[in-house]
Amino acid sequence: MNRALHIMFVVSEAVPFAKTGGLADVAGSLPLALSRAGMHLSVVMPLYGVIKQGNFTLTKELTDLEVAFDFFKLTFDVYRADVEGVSFYFIERDEFFERRQLYGTPKGDYFDNLERYTFLAKTLLPVCQALNLNPDIIHCHDWQSALVPVYLREKWREAECFAQTASVFTIHNLAYQGLFRKEKYHLLDLDPSLFSIDGLEFYDQINFLKAGILWADAITTVSRQYSREIQTPEFGCGLEGVLQSRAASLTGIVNGVDYRTWNPASDKLIAAPFSPGNLAGKTKNKKALMEAFLLDAKLLEAPLFGMVSRLADQKGLDLLSAILPELMAAKATLVILGTGEEKYHQLLTEAAQKYRGQLGIKIAFDNQLAHLIEAGADMFLMPSHYEPCGLNQIYSLKYGTIPVVRATGGLVDTIEPVDAQKKTGTGFRFTGKTPEAFWACMQEAMQAYQNKTLWKQLMSNAMNQDFSWEASATMYESLYRQTLAPIQ
Ligand code: ADP
Repeated sequence: MNRALHIMFVVSEAVPFAKTGGLADVAGSLPLALSRAGMHLSVVMPLYGVIKQGNFTLTKELTDLEVAFDFFKLTFDVYRADVEGVSFYFIERDEFFERRQLYGTPKGDYFDNLERYTFLAKTLLPVCQALNLNPDIIHCHDWQSALVPVYLREKWREAECFAQTASVFTIHNLAYQGLFRKEKYHLLDLDPSLFSIDGLEFYDQINFLKAGILWADAITTVSRQYSREIQTPEFGCGLEGVLQSRAASLTGIVNGVDYRTWNPASDKLIAAPFSPGNLAGKTKNKKALMEAFLLDAKLLEAPLFGMVSRLADQKGLDLLSAILPELMAAKATLVILGTGEEKYHQLLTEAAQKYRGQLGIKIAFDNQLAHLIEAGADMFLMPSHYEPCGLNQIYSLKYGTIPVVRATGGLVDTIEPVDAQKKTGTGFRFTGKTPEAFWACMQEAMQAYQNKTLWKQLMSNAMNQDFSWEASATMYESLYRQTLAPIQ
């Protein structure tokens, strides 16, 4: 029998501790699934202000560890919390991490993100030495932990705790690369020769994500379709060549979801439970959702679209705002929950005033309301221009809330197009990039909604889908073992 692997995640957010998006869902639930599959898991992440002020039981594990940073020795403490057998280690250095937001405000990123996440990467060696941990795999995620594979090969070769350690780097979103001014390169404490076109340089700037792609022993991304797309100029964000050069080490593994949190039969955050066999609760949730957004109760029979999203260009809000007049004229209803770019805050707030009673907007990050939207809407909108995996459409399936999505990235892997004749499929997909293509797809969905027998069947198809982590956890385990084979 294979011996149990020790996998160490290094990540910038994880539920239940800190979350801005899907990365946190994955970093909070994948380690638990890997642990259930028999591996030994630990997670290293920053101790943000939101965690300190949250209702978590943290114990102090280490004090006064040190890393060299610029001309200084910076000290830090480490706290620990255990979740279902997984140890989460939190790096405490308040000047870097005790902030209201994780990466920046709606006005822009924090000016010292290079310092903050370089510091996080550098803490890994002293933490593992002090705790006597010898991980087989260090699994890094997105630009925030992308320097770790570089340090592992370029600086930590001699360290006993990493003598047999390999790195895996997962790209959750290629568009956020961690780009910084080259004048800060010395803070990384890496050889100047590594700042080149074959290294960390990207058009005269430092690119953290590129470093992760080049130095990791294996690279993954969060759906099969996205792993193909990012090797093309359209989706590659300038890194398509780098990704092509590492194609042999790049795998797409679709994200799973945690059905203990996202299941309408047991969800405590919704108005009434429901299941494929008993759909009465769905209407109660629709009513509660319409009330929460002050929609006109007379529109109960109209199709209710929902959206929960970061308000960023990626999510297709340009397409949505272009079709709003048609959607409102068609007497459909729509609720949107999101935070993000100020231009969208303004645009959506104005639209909600104009279409009061039919369109509801909440500019907030509100987990409970996100659950209610999944439960109460009839359809869920994701007209994303690109979508590495997407989690909301997977949650929607379980809540019988039929997704209407652009055929890109993980939306292709997870949503099977509806065939109204055969009554098969789980959602509506469009491929074009225009408001017309989106609107045609929404019309098709609204037409299907009028056919109650068809709709019931589609809800049943959707609710019976299974995207639990177990299958993906097995794929990660075989990837870890393959990656280790040449080293150990
Ligand atoms: P991304 O990671 O690109 O933001 P995903 O669909 O992969 O998109 O994951 C988004 C996650 O964040 C989901 O769990 C979603 O419910 C949650 N989320 C996004 N915006 C909000 C919000 N305003 N309030 C509550 N939850 C949100």
